[in-house]
Amino acid sequence: MLAFNRTDLERLFPSTTWQRAESLCEQSAVVEINVERDGRSITGRVRGERRTPYLTRVNIVNGRGGRIRLSSTCTCLVYSECEHAAATLRAGELPPDRAAALVEECARIAAEAGAELDRQVRSEAPGQLALPS
Ligand SMILES: [Zn+2]
Repeated sequence: MLAFNRTDLERLFPSTTWQRAESLCEQSAVVEINVERDGRSITGRVRGERRTPYLTRVNIVNGRGGRIRLSSTCTCLVYSECEHAAATLRAGELPPDRAAALVEECARIAAEAGAELDRQVRSEAPGQLALPS
């Protein structure tokens, strides 16, 4: 069972980052948000000081024990775990619970895609584990 909740989400970024993200959301700075088809990342375009919006990507990684871990990259100077990534997760003024649900949904899609790949590999070589080539 995948697990990711509001507390995890709020723990991801320092509270000052969340505060800046809140004000970005209030200014409708998040101009675009996309969930990648494989469910492993959420990308967002966020207006900042520069003319072109920052492109930020939140990566979803399945951790141990069904936990989900997140990491983020961005084209801004902070580069990772910045307010643009936080704003992307809160885009459209998603309440934290719904943002967490979105992350969990993405991870579920990714896990299902991974399980499907697993089944294909196993059916090609029954009883054997695929060795990395
Ligand atoms: Zn950024």
